[in-house]
Amino acid sequence: MKKGKLFVFSAPSGSGKTTIVRHLLAEENLKLDFSISATSRAPRGKEVHGQDYYFLDVAEFQENIRKENFLEWEEVYANNFYGTLKSELERIWSLGKHVVFDIDVVGGLNIKKQFPEETLAIFVKPPSIEEMERRLRGRQTDSEEKILERVAKAEKELTYAKDFDVVLVNDNLDVAKKEAFDLVADFIK
Ligand code: 5GP
Repeated sequence: MKKGKLFVFSAPSGSGKTTIVRHLLAEENLKLDFSISATSRAPRGKEVHGQDYYFLDVAEFQENIRKENFLEWEEVYANNFYGTLKSELERIWSLGKHVVFDIDVVGGLNIKKQFPEETLAIFVKPPSIEEMERRLRGRQTDSEEKILERVAKAEKELTYAKDFDVVLVNDNLDVAKKEAFDLVADFIK
């Protein structure tokens, strides 16, 4: 099977990363496909199994760990496991496409380490922690406790930005989308 490229987008939640990733996926000539992660957390809002995530229970998730089915996995929040199944790469490469990951910073760097030549690791940075908190509140999908948990995690995640190939500051979404497009188009040239 011919290997495609790997694009890792990592960022604290509330950075606008998911919006940027969706925009790129819609650009058909980039030939990108989304690596659907597995998670043990419950679906939020309109999330669909097999589209946003593979929603597994904790036992199923652990069974996949045991069988070494994951390229990387992490317990991102207490009892909330997230991971990339090896089968996702095969699925997407066999379609002749490049893989896009929307995953946490540690997972993202882990992928980069396993595929150093093929991976472009992009860190999407919110303009500030305050702005990020404001965006999370605006989304109205998380409890106050979850928001504070995410903010604490973000402060730690920002310290990893320097380990990525590129830092993309998202203070203007249209500009950030265009920059992301150019980075990807350049890397697959
Ligand atoms: P959320 O619950 O908001 O969808 O995601 C929580 C965190 O888990 C985010 O930082 C997200 O990027 C991360 N995440 C999602 N999928 C994966 C994955 O496959 N592996 C890792 N390591 N983190 C992931």
